Parts: sequence; C-alpha cells; structure tokens
Amino acid sequence: MAPRPAPSFAGRTLPIISTADIKLKHRELVLTFDDGPVPEHTEAVLRILDDAGVKATFLMIGAQAQRNPQLVRLVAERGHTVGSHTNHHLNLKELDPASARAEIEAGIKNVAAPLQSSPFRIAPFFRFPFLLGTRQLCNELGKRRIVVLTADVTVGDSDPTLSPQRLYNQAIRRIVRRGSGIVLLHDIHARTVAMLPGLLADLKRKGFTIVHLVPAISVARRARRE
Ligand SMILES: [Zn+2]
Repeated sequence: MAPRPAPSFAGRTLPIISTADIKLKHRELVLTFDDGPVPEHTEAVLRILDDAGVKATFLMIGAQAQRNPQLVRLVAERGHTVGSHTNHHLNLKELDPASARAEIEAGIKNVAAPLQSSPFRIAPFFRFPFLLGTRQLCNELGKRRIVVLTADVTVGDSDPTLSPQRLYNQAIRRIVRRGSGIVLLHDIHARTVAMLPGLLADLKRKGFTIVHLVPAISVARRARRE
C-alpha cells in the first residue's frame, strides 16, 4: 500500500465574492499581512511563507506600493493575493465621506498600478485602517463588489513593547482560543518576521491549515482561459 501523504499545512483555496463566502471550518486560518510592502521585511515574510508552503493575502498601502512597485509584483508573482488598505492609512471614520472615498480610491489605484505590466491583478479585497469603517462606506464598497475584510484574530504585532517571544506566545494563545478565522499580521515589523517561522511551525503541529482567499471572478476568468 502506498504511504499516506503527510497532511498538508496548505489548506484549500477559497474563491469569494463577498465576506459572507468566508466560511471557515475549525482549525482553518486565513493569513493577512497589512501595511506593506516595505523593503525591510516583506521579502523575508515571502520566504517564510514559501518555506511553510502557504499563501496569504497582503492588504497594501497605496503610498508604500508607489515607493516599492517591484515588491507589489513580487508578492503577486509568489502566488499571494494582493488587496488594498487605503493610500495613507488614515482613520477613515475621522474623514468626511469624500476624503475617505478618495483615500480608498487612491489606495486601490496605486496598489493596482505596479501589476498593470504583469499577468497579475489586484483583488477586489479591502481592509479599513484600524478596522474602522463607516456603514456608508461599507455599503458603497459592497455595491462595487469589493470585499471588506475583517479580522477574527489580531495577534497584536503593532505593539512595540512586545519581544518576538512574547508576541509569539500571545499570537498562538489568541489563535488557539479562537480556533479558526482571519488572522491579522503586518509585514512591516521585525518582531513579526522574527516570530513567524515558529508560529507557522507550531500551527502546523497543532493541525491548523492555511486557507488561501482569492477573488472568485478572477478564478472564473482563469478557468475560461485554460
Ligand atoms: Zn493597517
């Protein structure tokens, strides 16, 4: 009898057209990395994800994408999903609706621009800075079929007082307690990069799998091309 293949850490690919499509089973996680891409850390995060054999979603800041267009392309080339996270990471709740809309639009445009010359496209995935949006903006994005991503587990990697070890402990505790969901991380902090290999190895040992979110529309388009 052929040996059974080892259980894979890479879970299923989940095509979605709305947040309601994100139905995760117990021990299924979606990894999201916000606020990049940055030359200091994004490539290291990509290497760690490659080593673990898993795919993530990167919600990028427009201004960072403008400064680092090659990194936007690199993230997409490595098979990850690229979405946007406004242009300057402002709290949209504190802006008037027109300015908030302009921030969202500029973010999408500037993250999409470096991919124009590549076979890859930005996904219609968006996350509000600080997870703070208004109902009006949510409705407008929904009408445009832009998926507003929330977060089920925030590991707290923006806390500058946390050492990588304490961050790792906190992250694993919060993820295990929650059991499944969308995990919010950042590819702009050294402490995140430092603890990520250990975190992923531990999640794999504990039987978690990493679900890759992709836009349903581009999957359909790809299927037509094949
Ligand atoms: Zn952010």
